[in-house]
This record gives sequence, C-alpha cells and structure tokens, in this order.
Amino acid sequence: QAKRAGRNTFAFYDGDQHKLSIERLELAAEIRSAVEQDQFSIFLQPQFFVATGQVSGAEALVRWNHPTRGLLRPDMFLPVAAGAGLLPEIGRLVVRKTLASAFEILPRVDVPLTFAMNLSVDELADEAFVEELLWQIDGANLLPGTIEIEITENTAMTDGAAIERQLERLRQVGTRLAIDDFGVGYSNLGRLKGLAFDTLKLDRSLLQDVGEDEEAENLMATILAMAQVMKADVVAEGIETRTQLSVLEKYHCRYYQGYLGARPMPAERFATWLLANMRHHERQA
Ligand code: C2E
Ligand code: MG
Ligand code: MG
Ligand code: MG
Repeated sequence: QAKRAGRNTFAFYDGDQHKLSIERLELAAEIRSAVEQDQFSIFLQPQFFVATGQVSGAEALVRWNHPTRGLLRPDMFLPVAAGAGLLPEIGRLVVRKTLASAFEILPRVDVPLTFAMNLSVDELADEAFVEELLWQIDGANLLPGTIEIEITENTAMTDGAAIERQLERLRQVGTRLAIDDFGVGYSNLGRLKGLAFDTLKLDRSLLQDVGEDEEAENLMATILAMAQVMKADVVAEGIETRTQLSVLEKYHCRYYQGYLGARPMPAERFATWLLANMRHHERQA
C-alpha cells in the first residue's frame, strides 16, 4: 500500500509519461518472475463445425494467475511482455502446456482435434524458440494437422525471409498455419497467398453485424468466396448469437469459435467438458 502511494506521489511530480514507463518496468520485472514461478496457464476455447455443432478443436489462450490481481487476460500483460522481449519466455510455457493438453486428451477421444496456439513475430524471429518448438512438436508424435499455429494478419505481412523459412520448417513437422484476426490488418493478398496457409480466422469485428446488416453479410460472403479460391478453411471468430450462426450456416462457413459455443476454460477442465459434449452429440444422433 505504501509502495502504491509512493508511486502515485512520484507520478504527481514527474508526469504521466514517466509514471507509465516506471509501471511498465515494474510490470516487466513482475512478468519475468511470474515465468519462473509458473504463474502462467492456458485456457482452451473450443472450436466447432458450423454444420453439426461438433467440436473440431481448441485454441490455447494464455492467462496470468496473478497472486494479488487474479486472473489476467493477455491484453493486460502481453504488450509489456513484448516490449521487454519476454514473449518467447511466455510462449515456451504455452507450447508446453498446449502439447501436454493435446497429449492428455487425444487418446481419450476417437476423433482428430486441432490444437491452435498463437505465435507472435518476436517468437518466430527467435531462432532458439523455433528450434525448441520444432523439437517439441516433432517429439510429440501427433497426427499431422493436430497443431495449428496462428499468426495475425499483420505478422503474416511482416516482410521477412527468415520468418517464412521458420513457417516452412513448422509445416514440415506437420503443423497447420492459420491467419488470425483476418480483415482488420493490412493484407497484401498476393503475399498472403504465397504463405500457403491452411486457415483464415475472420475477425470478430467483421461478423458482429451479420444477420442484421446486409452489407456485413455481403462482405462476409465475399471473404468466404475468396478463402475458397485460396483453398483455405475458415473459422469465424467471436460468434455470440444464433443469428450469426445461422448466417454462417447459410454461407457454408466451416468452423466457428465464440461464446455461443463455449467460452475459454481452464485447460484442466477441457477434457471433461469435451467428453460431456460428445456424449450429448451421441444421444442426438
Ligand atoms: P485471438 O487469438 O484472436 O483470440 C480470440 C480472443 O477473443 C480471445 O481473447 C477470446 O477469449 C476472445 N473471444 C472468443 N470468443 C469470443 C466472443 O464470442 N466474444 C468476445 N467478445 N470475445 C471472444 P483473449 O483470450 O483475451 O486473447 C486476446 C488475444 O491475445 C488473442 O486474440 C491473441 O492475439 C493474444 N494471445 C492469447 N494467447 C496468446 C499466446 O499464448 N501467445 C501470443 N503471442 N498471443 C496470445
Ligand atoms: Mg488466435
Ligand atoms: Mg483472432
Ligand atoms: Mg484478437
């Protein structure tokens, strides 16, 4: 408490900018020790087939179990972690935990599932990080296509032969590549096509008004047609309503993810949730 008061007084004299940079430094130090103390975990958010409602996989989303502030979402710490060069540290934990989940769950179900994880440009540019990732994925002996790497549209547009080479190496150990948050970045479609990605994840903002706004629906339909030309699967992100889902059905969008289907859940809970969901589908069949 005294520390907090002291910090505020300090900020009063030195201005908000200074306060901000001090707080960023403190947060970066805290993140560094949180990595050592294993305070990061993953939540898994299920992905579904639009047509059947069956689960097709899950995306791993990092969370920080902060000792005093509770469960923190990535926007609370990833930007600072990125600035401090700590993304690969966090990424290593995410990779390990995601593979561990896949390893635990896959033998208990008789359908293939995709486990997706988000990688930043900092991680892809980190030679040691990629080496370890390749080694881990290769060693896990999963079916090809089990692991999907998500990079944002903007990461995909980062002009770098090195990044492309790393993506190619990841492909060689059987991972799929997804372009995340598609539709809000600045895509060069020619370059995008050259990346040979497997999946386009349509950003939530593009889909918010489908079913209510004709222009939004037309835009979505156009992107789906484009994805088809590029021979890519499509995951619609951030689906919250039945109305949105029915539009996805109408245009034969293959997959969706969103609160309507399920919220992200602690990885430990995913297996139980999944088995219950599968029993539910069996009863319906
Ligand atoms: P993303 O990869 O686009 O992940 C989807 C985000 O949308 C998640 O937020 C998820 O909780 C949220 N979401 C899912 N369904 C809905 C919905 O129906 N409505 C709304 N309003 N939101 C929904 P989250 O977990 O806060 O993650 C935010 C972003 O942080 C992610 O966006 C991703 O870019 C980044 N991120 C998360 N985990 C990692 C990681 O391990 N490494 C890296 N580099 N980035 C990560
Ligand atoms: Mg993602
Ligand atoms: Mg996204
Ligand atoms: Mg996002």
